[in-house]
Amino acid sequence: MKQIEHIGIAVKDIESAGQLFKKLLNTSIYKVEAVESEGVKTAFLQTGPNKIELLEATRADSPISKFIEKRGEGIHHIAFDVEDIEAEMKRLKQEGFVLLNDKPIPGADNKLVCFVHPKSANGVLIELCQNKPGPL
Ligand code: ZN
Repeated sequence: MKQIEHIGIAVKDIESAGQLFKKLLNTSIYKVEAVESEGVKTAFLQTGPNKIELLEATRADSPISKFIEKRGEGIHHIAFDVEDIEAEMKRLKQEGFVLLNDKPIPGADNKLVCFVHPKSANGVLIELCQNKPGPL
């Protein structure tokens, strides 16, 4: 795994959270994107090399709704940049980690992603993400 790609924060209202994080980090939101398959709307901010992903549920059965119901708003996941997501998934499986996806799935910000179950990582949801290969 390479560096932390971003930190995901679950919020109830992405508009007000976006305003708050803009003020906090003194930067702007550079991308807003819905990931329909996951039932989330995302907004990204960047400060230096670090990115924050705000996540709001778009439907009641979204993983973000469930997370907020159980644990309230707050840090939802830590995402790591990986070179080869399939190889990394295979390695983690062999190490005994429980993956939430059998195959990489499309994520926000032009990534292929896979999640590692928080139960197998000390309560922390880990996201692997690889830049989608661009068109040749
Ligand atoms: Zn993420």
